[in-house]
Amino acid sequence: MTLEKFLLDHGLRISVDDTKGRCLIANRVFTPGELIISQEPYSSVLDIDSERRRCDNCFNLSSNVKRCSACKSVRYCCSSCQVHAWKQQHKSECQMLVKLIEEKQRTPPPSLRLVVRLVIKRSLQQSGVLSTKADDNFETVEALPTHYSETQEERLVSYAQMANLVKTIVDPVEVDLKEVCQLFCRIACNAHTICDEEFRPVGTGLYPVISIINHSCAPNTVLLFNGKRGIVRALQKIEKGTEVTVSYVELAGSTKTRQLALKEQYYFVCQCKRCRKMETEEGIIEDAILEGYKCPVQQCNGAVPSGRDQPGSQCVTCGSGCDNKKLKRSESAANKLLEEANLAMRSRDDGQARLLFEKTEAIQKEIFHVHSVHLMRTRDALMKVCMSLNDWQSALRYCLLTLPAYERAYSVNSPLVGLQYFSLGKLHWLLGNSREAVTALTRAKGILSVTHGSGSSLVRELTGTLQEATLEAAYRSQIPGGPEPMSLDITDRFKHHRSLKR
Ligand SMILES: [Zn+2]
Ligand SMILES: [Zn+2]
Ligand SMILES: [Zn+2]
Ligand SMILES: [Zn+2]
Repeated sequence: MTLEKFLLDHGLRISVDDTKGRCLIANRVFTPGELIISQEPYSSVLDIDSERRRCDNCFNLSSNVKRCSACKSVRYCCSSCQVHAWKQQHKSECQMLVKLIEEKQRTPPPSLRLVVRLVIKRSLQQSGVLSTKADDNFETVEALPTHYSETQEERLVSYAQMANLVKTIVDPVEVDLKEVCQLFCRIACNAHTICDEEFRPVGTGLYPVISIINHSCAPNTVLLFNGKRGIVRALQKIEKGTEVTVSYVELAGSTKTRQLALKEQYYFVCQCKRCRKMETEEGIIEDAILEGYKCPVQQCNGAVPSGRDQPGSQCVTCGSGCDNKKLKRSESAANKLLEEANLAMRSRDDGQARLLFEKTEAIQKEIFHVHSVHLMRTRDALMKVCMSLNDWQSALRYCLLTLPAYERAYSVNSPLVGLQYFSLGKLHWLLGNSREAVTALTRAKGILSVTHGSGSSLVRELTGTLQEATLEAAYRSQIPGGPEPMSLDITDRFKHHRSLKR
Protein backbone atom coordinates (compact mmCIF):
# COMPACT_ATOMS: atom_id res chain seq x y z
CA MET A 1 0.00 0.00 0.00
CA THR A 2 1.27 3.46 -0.78
CA LEU A 3 1.45 6.23 1.81
CA GLU A 4 -1.17 8.20 -0.18
CA LYS A 5 -3.63 5.30 0.00
CA PHE A 6 -2.84 4.76 3.69
CA LEU A 7 -3.57 8.43 4.43
CA LEU A 8 -6.75 8.45 2.32
CA ASP A 9 -8.01 5.50 4.39
CA HIS A 10 -7.50 7.73 7.43
CA GLY A 11 -9.37 10.66 5.87
CA LEU A 12 -6.15 12.56 5.11
CA ARG A 13 -4.12 13.67 2.13
CA ILE A 14 -0.84 15.46 1.45
CA SER A 15 -0.62 18.73 -0.43
CA VAL A 16 2.57 20.58 -1.32
CA ASP A 17 2.93 24.27 -0.51
CA ASP A 18 5.67 26.46 -2.03
CA THR A 19 6.92 27.81 1.28
CA LYS A 20 5.86 25.16 3.77
CA GLY A 21 6.61 22.03 1.73
CA ARG A 22 4.38 19.07 2.51
CA CYS A 23 1.16 19.74 4.40
CA LEU A 24 -1.28 17.24 5.87
CA ILE A 25 -4.86 18.07 4.88
CA ALA A 26 -8.11 16.77 6.40
CA ASN A 27 -10.01 15.00 3.64
CA ARG A 28 -13.13 14.79 5.81
CA VAL A 29 -14.51 16.48 8.93
CA PHE A 30 -12.83 15.54 12.22
CA THR A 31 -14.65 16.15 15.51
CA PRO A 32 -12.94 17.31 18.75
CA GLY A 33 -11.09 14.42 20.40
CA GLU A 34 -11.16 12.30 17.26
CA LEU A 35 -8.01 10.38 16.39
CA ILE A 36 -6.29 11.91 13.36
CA ILE A 37 -3.36 9.53 13.11
CA SER A 38 -1.22 7.34 15.34
CA GLN A 39 2.19 5.87 14.58
CA GLU A 40 4.95 3.79 16.15
CA PRO A 41 8.32 5.52 15.85
CA TYR A 42 10.62 4.38 13.03
CA SER A 43 13.40 4.66 15.57
CA SER A 44 13.32 5.71 19.22
CA VAL A 45 15.46 5.91 22.32
CA LEU A 46 14.88 6.60 26.02
CA ASP A 47 16.44 9.58 27.80
CA ILE A 48 19.29 8.79 30.19
CA ASP A 49 17.04 9.67 33.15
CA SER A 50 14.33 7.28 31.99
CA GLU A 51 16.57 4.33 31.08
CA ARG A 52 16.60 2.88 34.56
CA ARG A 53 12.87 3.06 35.17
CA ARG A 54 11.32 2.37 31.78
CA CYS A 55 11.17 -0.55 29.39
CA ASP A 56 13.36 0.02 26.35
CA ASN A 57 10.75 -1.60 24.10
CA CYS A 58 7.35 -0.22 25.18
CA PHE A 59 8.69 2.81 27.12
CA ASN A 60 6.27 2.08 29.98
CA LEU A 61 7.24 2.64 33.61
CA SER A 62 7.88 -0.55 35.51
CA SER A 63 9.07 -1.15 39.05
CA ASN A 64 10.53 -4.43 37.86
CA VAL A 65 12.58 -3.71 34.75
CA LYS A 66 15.19 -6.40 34.01
CA ARG A 67 18.49 -5.66 32.29
CA CYS A 68 19.68 -7.38 29.15
CA SER A 69 22.19 -9.86 30.59
CA ALA A 70 24.69 -9.30 27.76
CA CYS A 71 25.06 -5.50 27.45
CA LYS A 72 23.49 -4.63 30.82
CA SER A 73 22.53 -1.28 29.33
CA VAL A 74 18.91 -1.71 28.23
CA ARG A 75 16.01 -2.84 30.42
CA TYR A 76 12.70 -4.57 29.70
CA CYS A 77 9.40 -4.85 31.57
CA CYS A 78 8.64 -8.41 30.43
CA SER A 79 10.00 -11.21 28.30
CA SER A 80 7.71 -10.49 25.36
CA CYS A 81 9.07 -6.92 25.19
CA GLN A 82 12.59 -8.32 25.30
CA VAL A 83 11.88 -10.80 22.49
CA HIS A 84 10.28 -8.09 20.36
CA ALA A 85 13.15 -5.63 20.88
CA TRP A 86 15.70 -8.37 20.11
CA LYS A 87 14.10 -8.99 16.72
CA GLN A 88 13.65 -5.30 15.96
CA GLN A 89 17.11 -4.01 16.71
CA HIS A 90 18.72 -5.19 19.89
CA LYS A 91 20.24 -8.30 18.31
CA SER A 92 22.28 -5.95 16.14
CA GLU A 93 23.12 -3.31 18.74
CA CYS A 94 23.74 -5.47 21.83
CA GLN A 95 27.26 -6.57 20.90
CA MET A 96 28.33 -3.12 19.83
CA LEU A 97 27.02 -1.70 23.10
CA VAL A 98 29.14 -4.25 24.98
CA LYS A 99 32.19 -3.26 22.95
CA LEU A 100 31.57 0.45 23.28
CA ILE A 101 30.99 0.29 27.00
CA GLU A 102 34.20 -1.72 27.44
CA GLU A 103 36.18 0.84 25.48
CA LYS A 104 34.63 4.07 26.69
CA GLN A 105 33.05 2.72 29.85
CA ARG A 106 29.75 4.38 29.13
CA THR A 107 26.76 4.09 26.83
CA PRO A 108 26.79 6.34 23.76
CA PRO A 109 24.52 9.43 23.87
CA PRO A 110 20.82 9.00 22.92
CA SER A 111 21.09 10.98 19.64
CA LEU A 112 23.82 8.63 18.41
CA ARG A 113 21.88 5.55 19.45
CA LEU A 114 18.80 6.87 17.66
CA VAL A 115 20.72 7.07 14.37
CA VAL A 116 22.35 3.67 14.96
CA ARG A 117 18.88 2.18 15.41
CA LEU A 118 17.65 3.92 12.28
CA VAL A 119 20.50 2.51 10.20
CA ILE A 120 20.03 -0.98 11.67
CA LYS A 121 16.30 -0.91 10.95
CA ARG A 122 16.81 0.20 7.39
CA SER A 123 19.28 -2.60 6.78
CA LEU A 124 16.95 -5.19 8.35
CA GLN A 125 14.05 -3.94 6.23
CA GLN A 126 16.16 -3.93 3.07
CA SER A 127 17.24 -7.52 3.61
CA GLY A 128 13.64 -8.54 4.31
CA VAL A 129 14.28 -9.62 7.93
CA LEU A 130 11.81 -6.96 9.05
CA SER A 131 8.70 -6.24 6.99
CA THR A 132 7.74 -2.78 5.76
CA LYS A 133 4.37 -1.03 5.90
CA ALA A 134 2.97 2.08 4.23
CA ASP A 135 3.76 4.10 7.37
CA ASP A 136 6.84 2.12 8.37
CA ASN A 137 9.58 2.22 5.75
CA PHE A 138 12.77 4.14 5.09
CA GLU A 139 11.29 6.11 2.18
CA THR A 140 9.07 8.00 4.66
CA VAL A 141 12.26 8.93 6.56
CA GLU A 142 14.02 10.01 3.38
CA ALA A 143 11.08 12.23 2.47
CA LEU A 144 11.71 14.40 5.57
CA PRO A 145 13.53 17.71 5.02
CA THR A 146 17.20 17.84 6.16
CA HIS A 147 17.75 21.65 6.13
CA TYR A 148 21.35 20.61 5.44
CA SER A 149 22.35 23.89 3.77
CA GLU A 150 20.93 25.94 6.66
CA THR A 151 22.65 23.89 9.36
CA GLN A 152 25.52 25.64 11.16
CA GLU A 153 29.03 24.60 10.17
CA GLU A 154 30.06 23.48 13.66
CA ARG A 155 26.97 21.36 13.99
CA LEU A 156 27.79 19.66 10.69
CA VAL A 157 31.32 18.97 11.92
CA SER A 158 29.99 17.25 15.02
CA TYR A 159 27.50 15.28 12.88
CA ALA A 160 30.40 14.14 10.67
CA GLN A 161 32.30 12.91 13.73
CA MET A 162 29.24 11.07 15.01
CA ALA A 163 28.63 9.62 11.54
CA ASN A 164 32.10 8.06 11.68
CA LEU A 165 31.24 6.52 15.00
CA VAL A 166 27.95 5.19 13.60
CA LYS A 167 29.88 3.57 10.75
CA THR A 168 32.19 1.71 13.17
CA ILE A 169 29.29 0.70 15.39
CA VAL A 170 27.03 -0.75 12.70
CA ASP A 171 29.85 -2.48 10.82
CA PRO A 172 29.44 -4.73 8.75
CA VAL A 173 26.30 -2.81 7.66
CA GLU A 174 27.40 -0.54 4.79
CA VAL A 175 26.80 3.16 5.31
CA ASP A 176 27.48 6.32 3.39
CA LEU A 177 28.94 8.98 5.70
CA LYS A 178 27.25 11.93 4.01
CA GLU A 179 23.93 10.12 4.20
CA VAL A 180 24.38 9.48 7.93
CA CYS A 181 25.18 13.19 8.41
CA GLN A 182 21.91 13.97 6.71
CA LEU A 183 20.14 11.57 9.06
CA PHE A 184 21.48 13.59 12.00
CA CYS A 185 20.13 16.75 10.32
CA ARG A 186 16.75 15.09 9.79
CA ILE A 187 16.59 14.01 13.41
CA ALA A 188 17.49 17.50 14.64
CA CYS A 189 14.53 19.14 12.90
CA ASN A 190 12.01 16.28 12.70
CA ALA A 191 12.33 14.05 15.76
CA HIS A 192 9.79 14.43 18.56
CA THR A 193 10.35 14.44 22.30
CA ILE A 194 8.35 11.52 23.66
CA CYS A 195 6.51 12.59 26.83
CA ASP A 196 4.40 10.91 29.47
CA GLU A 197 0.75 11.87 30.02
CA GLU A 198 1.73 14.93 31.99
CA PHE A 199 4.21 16.16 29.39
CA ARG A 200 7.37 15.14 31.21
CA PRO A 201 10.01 14.08 28.65
CA VAL A 202 10.83 10.39 28.46
CA GLY A 203 12.77 9.95 25.21
CA THR A 204 13.09 10.83 21.55
CA GLY A 205 11.49 9.24 18.49
CA LEU A 206 11.27 9.74 14.76
CA TYR A 207 7.69 9.60 13.45
CA PRO A 208 7.97 10.19 9.70
CA VAL A 209 4.22 10.40 9.00
CA ILE A 210 3.37 12.52 12.05
CA SER A 211 6.29 14.77 11.02
CA ILE A 212 4.39 15.74 7.87
CA ILE A 213 2.09 17.80 10.11
CA ASN A 214 3.23 21.44 10.12
CA HIS A 215 3.47 23.76 13.09
CA SER A 216 1.00 26.42 14.19
CA CYS A 217 1.10 28.54 17.35
CA ALA A 218 -2.69 28.01 17.45
CA PRO A 219 -2.76 24.32 16.49
CA ASN A 220 -5.93 22.35 15.73
CA THR A 221 -4.50 19.04 16.99
CA VAL A 222 -2.32 17.78 19.81
CA LEU A 223 0.36 15.08 19.83
CA LEU A 224 0.50 12.79 22.85
CA PHE A 225 2.13 9.45 23.49
CA ASN A 226 0.92 6.11 24.72
CA GLY A 227 4.18 4.46 25.71
CA LYS A 228 6.16 5.37 22.62
CA ARG A 229 3.23 5.35 20.19
CA GLY A 230 2.56 8.87 18.91
CA ILE A 231 -1.15 9.79 18.90
CA VAL A 232 -2.54 12.91 17.22
CA ARG A 233 -6.05 14.03 18.19
CA ALA A 234 -8.23 16.89 17.00
CA LEU A 235 -8.46 19.72 19.55
CA GLN A 236 -11.42 21.26 17.76
CA LYS A 237 -13.68 20.55 14.82
CA ILE A 238 -11.54 20.35 11.66
CA GLU A 239 -13.40 20.99 8.41
CA LYS A 240 -12.69 19.04 5.25
CA GLY A 241 -9.88 20.72 3.27
CA THR A 242 -8.31 22.34 6.34
CA GLU A 243 -4.62 21.86 7.11
CA VAL A 244 -3.90 19.72 10.19
CA THR A 245 -1.47 21.56 12.51
CA VAL A 246 0.35 20.77 15.72
CA SER A 247 2.69 22.80 17.95
CA TYR A 248 6.46 22.18 17.77
CA VAL A 249 7.46 24.56 20.55
CA GLU A 250 6.42 25.88 23.96
CA LEU A 251 3.44 28.13 23.22
CA ALA A 252 3.58 30.22 26.39
CA GLY A 253 5.64 33.11 25.10
CA SER A 254 5.51 36.24 22.99
CA THR A 255 5.54 36.00 19.18
CA LYS A 256 9.27 36.83 19.09
CA THR A 257 10.11 34.08 21.57
CA ARG A 258 8.10 31.46 19.68
CA GLN A 259 9.48 32.54 16.32
CA LEU A 260 13.04 32.47 17.58
CA ALA A 261 12.62 28.91 18.86
CA LEU A 262 11.08 27.83 15.54
CA LYS A 263 13.79 29.51 13.48
CA GLU A 264 16.61 28.01 15.56
CA GLN A 265 15.43 24.44 15.51
CA TYR A 266 13.15 24.19 12.50
CA TYR A 267 14.47 26.87 10.13
CA PHE A 268 11.23 28.63 9.26
CA VAL A 269 9.34 31.81 10.00
CA CYS A 270 5.90 30.99 11.35
CA GLN A 271 3.03 32.64 9.47
CA CYS A 272 0.21 31.20 11.57
CA LYS A 273 -2.80 33.27 12.53
CA ARG A 274 -1.42 33.91 16.02
CA CYS A 275 1.91 35.15 14.59
CA ARG A 276 0.23 37.27 11.93
CA LYS A 277 -1.46 39.16 14.76
CA MET A 278 1.93 40.40 15.97
CA GLU A 279 1.75 43.62 13.95
CA THR A 280 -1.80 44.46 15.01
CA GLU A 281 -2.60 46.48 18.12
CA GLU A 282 -4.16 43.43 19.73
CA GLY A 283 -1.01 41.38 19.04
CA ILE A 284 1.33 44.04 20.44
CA ILE A 285 -0.70 44.27 23.64
CA GLU A 286 -0.83 40.48 23.95
CA ASP A 287 2.96 40.10 23.57
CA ALA A 288 3.61 42.90 26.07
CA ILE A 289 1.36 41.20 28.60
CA LEU A 290 2.97 37.78 28.15
CA GLU A 291 6.58 38.89 28.45
CA GLY A 292 6.66 42.61 29.21
CA TYR A 293 6.47 44.74 32.35
CA LYS A 294 3.21 45.79 33.92
CA CYS A 295 1.89 49.30 33.43
CA PRO A 296 2.87 51.64 36.29
CA VAL A 297 -0.73 52.97 36.42
CA GLN A 298 -2.64 50.80 38.84
CA GLN A 299 -6.04 51.00 37.16
CA CYS A 300 -4.57 50.15 33.74
CA ASN A 301 -4.41 46.50 32.69
CA GLY A 302 -1.78 47.16 30.01
CA ALA A 303 1.91 46.36 29.79
CA VAL A 304 5.22 47.72 28.55
CA PRO A 305 7.15 45.65 25.96
CA SER A 306 10.48 44.28 27.20
CA GLY A 307 13.02 41.58 26.47
CA ARG A 308 13.05 40.43 22.86
CA ASP A 309 9.97 42.50 22.02
CA GLN A 310 11.19 45.95 20.98
CA PRO A 311 11.92 47.16 24.53
CA GLY A 312 9.84 50.27 25.10
CA SER A 313 9.25 52.63 27.96
CA GLN A 314 5.56 53.22 27.46
CA CYS A 315 2.47 51.21 28.25
CA VAL A 316 0.94 49.91 25.00
CA THR A 317 -2.56 50.54 26.32
CA CYS A 318 -2.51 53.94 28.07
CA GLY A 319 0.88 55.35 27.00
CA SER A 320 2.14 55.96 30.55
CA GLY A 321 5.92 56.03 30.87
CA CYS A 322 7.92 53.71 33.12
CA ASP A 323 11.46 53.56 34.51
CA ASN A 324 12.88 50.89 32.23
CA LYS A 325 16.32 50.82 33.88
CA LYS A 326 14.92 50.24 37.32
CA LEU A 327 12.66 47.48 35.99
CA LYS A 328 15.60 45.80 34.26
CA ARG A 329 17.57 45.81 37.52
CA SER A 330 14.68 44.18 39.38
CA GLU A 331 14.32 41.64 36.59
CA SER A 332 17.99 40.60 36.81
CA ALA A 333 17.68 40.28 40.59
CA ALA A 334 14.65 38.01 40.10
CA ASN A 335 16.48 35.94 37.50
CA LYS A 336 19.40 35.42 39.84
CA LEU A 337 17.09 34.20 42.60
CA LEU A 338 15.30 31.99 40.11
CA GLU A 339 18.56 30.32 39.14
CA GLU A 340 19.36 29.62 42.77
CA ALA A 341 15.84 28.31 43.34
CA ASN A 342 16.17 25.87 40.43
CA LEU A 343 19.52 24.71 41.77
CA ALA A 344 17.96 24.07 45.19
CA MET A 345 15.14 22.16 43.43
CA ARG A 346 17.63 19.96 41.63
CA SER A 347 19.47 19.16 44.83
CA ARG A 348 16.04 18.33 46.31
CA ASP A 349 16.22 20.99 49.00
CA ASP A 350 12.49 21.78 48.82
CA GLY A 351 12.47 24.11 51.81
CA GLN A 352 15.23 26.29 50.42
CA ALA A 353 13.73 26.16 46.93
CA ARG A 354 10.40 27.39 48.24
CA LEU A 355 12.04 30.29 50.04
CA LEU A 356 13.92 31.33 46.89
CA PHE A 357 10.89 30.94 44.60
CA GLU A 358 8.86 33.06 47.03
CA LYS A 359 11.48 35.80 46.91
CA THR A 360 11.48 35.61 43.10
CA GLU A 361 7.70 35.82 43.00
CA ALA A 362 7.70 38.85 45.31
CA ILE A 363 9.91 40.77 42.86
CA GLN A 364 8.21 39.50 39.70
CA LYS A 365 4.79 40.46 41.07
CA GLU A 366 5.95 44.05 41.30
CA ILE A 367 7.31 44.29 37.76
CA PHE A 368 5.39 41.84 35.58
CA HIS A 369 1.78 41.78 34.40
CA VAL A 370 -0.44 39.42 36.39
CA HIS A 371 -0.69 37.20 33.27
CA SER A 372 3.06 37.23 32.55
CA VAL A 373 4.53 33.85 31.58
CA HIS A 374 7.54 34.48 33.84
CA LEU A 375 5.31 34.96 36.86
CA MET A 376 3.20 32.00 35.76
CA ARG A 377 6.24 29.69 35.68
CA THR A 378 7.46 30.81 39.11
CA ARG A 379 4.00 30.27 40.60
CA ASP A 380 3.78 26.89 38.93
CA ALA A 381 7.12 25.93 40.49
CA LEU A 382 5.84 27.21 43.85
CA MET A 383 2.70 25.11 43.51
CA LYS A 384 4.77 21.98 42.90
CA VAL A 385 7.26 22.64 45.66
CA CYS A 386 4.40 23.30 48.13
CA MET A 387 2.89 19.96 47.10
CA SER A 388 6.19 18.25 47.85
CA LEU A 389 6.16 19.91 51.25
CA ASN A 390 2.54 18.76 51.80
CA ASP A 391 1.41 22.39 52.13
CA TRP A 392 -1.84 21.94 50.20
CA GLN A 393 -3.34 25.28 51.11
CA SER A 394 -0.43 27.22 49.63
CA ALA A 395 -0.27 24.91 46.62
CA LEU A 396 -3.94 25.66 45.99
CA ARG A 397 -3.34 29.40 46.25
CA TYR A 398 -0.55 29.28 43.66
CA CYS A 399 -2.51 26.97 41.39
CA LEU A 400 -5.43 29.43 41.35
CA LEU A 401 -3.03 32.27 40.53
CA THR A 402 -1.55 30.41 37.54
CA LEU A 403 -4.84 29.52 35.84
CA PRO A 404 -5.77 32.83 34.17
CA ALA A 405 -2.20 33.06 32.84
CA TYR A 406 -2.36 29.46 31.60
CA GLU A 407 -5.59 30.13 29.74
CA ARG A 408 -4.11 33.21 28.16
CA ALA A 409 -0.74 31.75 27.14
CA TYR A 410 -2.13 28.45 25.89
CA SER A 411 -5.46 27.95 24.15
CA VAL A 412 -8.39 27.24 26.48
CA ASN A 413 -8.62 23.66 25.20
CA SER A 414 -4.89 22.98 25.61
CA PRO A 415 -4.02 19.77 27.50
CA LEU A 416 -1.78 21.87 29.77
CA VAL A 417 -4.79 23.90 30.86
CA GLY A 418 -6.67 20.63 31.41
CA LEU A 419 -3.86 19.26 33.59
CA GLN A 420 -3.76 22.46 35.62
CA TYR A 421 -7.51 22.18 36.30
CA PHE A 422 -6.93 18.55 37.27
CA SER A 423 -4.33 19.67 39.84
CA LEU A 424 -6.73 22.35 41.07
CA GLY A 425 -9.52 19.79 41.45
CA LYS A 426 -7.30 17.37 43.33
CA LEU A 427 -6.06 20.11 45.67
CA HIS A 428 -9.62 21.24 46.44
CA TRP A 429 -10.62 17.66 47.04
CA LEU A 430 -7.66 17.02 49.35
CA LEU A 431 -8.64 20.07 51.36
CA GLY A 432 -12.25 18.92 51.61
CA ASN A 433 -13.68 21.62 49.29
CA SER A 434 -15.82 19.09 47.45
CA ARG A 435 -18.01 21.50 45.52
CA GLU A 436 -15.04 23.45 44.13
CA ALA A 437 -13.34 20.12 43.40
CA VAL A 438 -16.33 19.02 41.30
CA THR A 439 -16.26 22.25 39.28
CA ALA A 440 -12.52 22.06 38.57
CA LEU A 441 -12.51 18.31 37.83
CA THR A 442 -15.48 18.64 35.48
CA ARG A 443 -13.61 21.34 33.61
CA ALA A 444 -10.48 19.17 33.48
CA LYS A 445 -12.46 16.20 32.23
CA GLY A 446 -13.97 18.26 29.44
CA ILE A 447 -10.53 19.18 28.14
CA LEU A 448 -8.57 15.99 28.86
CA SER A 449 -11.22 13.66 27.37
CA VAL A 450 -10.56 15.46 24.09
CA THR A 451 -6.76 15.65 24.30
CA HIS A 452 -5.97 12.33 25.98
CA GLY A 453 -9.03 10.32 24.95
CA SER A 454 -11.75 9.21 27.37
CA GLY A 455 -10.19 5.74 27.72
CA SER A 456 -6.76 7.00 28.84
CA SER A 457 -5.53 6.10 32.30
CA LEU A 458 -5.31 9.79 33.19
CA VAL A 459 -8.98 10.40 32.38
CA ARG A 460 -9.96 7.20 34.19
CA GLU A 461 -8.15 8.42 37.32
CA LEU A 462 -9.81 11.82 36.93
CA THR A 463 -13.26 10.25 36.56
CA GLY A 464 -12.73 8.25 39.76
CA THR A 465 -11.82 11.36 41.76
CA LEU A 466 -14.70 13.29 40.22
CA GLN A 467 -17.18 10.58 41.25
CA GLU A 468 -15.96 10.62 44.84
CA ALA A 469 -16.02 14.43 44.98
CA THR A 470 -19.54 14.50 43.48
CA LEU A 471 -20.87 12.03 46.09
CA GLU A 472 -19.24 14.04 48.84
CA ALA A 473 -20.64 17.33 47.56
CA ALA A 474 -24.14 15.83 47.27
CA TYR A 475 -23.93 14.50 50.83
CA ARG A 476 -22.78 17.86 52.15
CA SER A 477 -25.57 19.74 50.43
CA GLN A 478 -28.10 17.49 52.19
CA ILE A 479 -26.66 18.11 55.63
CA PRO A 480 -24.97 21.52 55.61
CA GLY A 481 -22.06 21.45 58.03
CA GLY A 482 -22.77 17.79 58.75
CA PRO A 483 -20.16 15.11 59.39
CA GLU A 484 -17.73 13.89 56.73
CA PRO A 485 -19.35 11.15 54.67
CA MET A 486 -16.16 9.13 54.34
CA SER A 487 -13.73 8.07 56.97
CA LEU A 488 -10.72 8.95 54.84
CA ASP A 489 -8.79 11.83 56.32
CA ILE A 490 -6.74 14.23 54.23
CA THR A 491 -3.44 12.35 54.63
CA ASP A 492 -5.08 9.14 53.50
CA ARG A 493 -6.42 10.92 50.47
CA PHE A 494 -2.99 12.08 49.59
CA LYS A 495 -1.66 8.53 49.65
CA HIS A 496 -4.21 7.61 47.01
CA HIS A 497 -3.06 10.44 44.83
CA ARG A 498 0.66 10.06 44.58
CA SER A 499 0.65 11.51 41.12
CA LEU A 500 0.08 14.94 42.61
CA LYS A 501 3.77 14.95 43.49
CA ARG A 502 5.33 15.47 40.13
ZN1 LIG B 1 7.81 -3.32 27.86
ZN1 LIG C 1 21.87 -6.20 25.23
ZN1 LIG D 1 3.01 31.09 14.75
ZN1 LIG E 1 -1.18 51.52 30.99
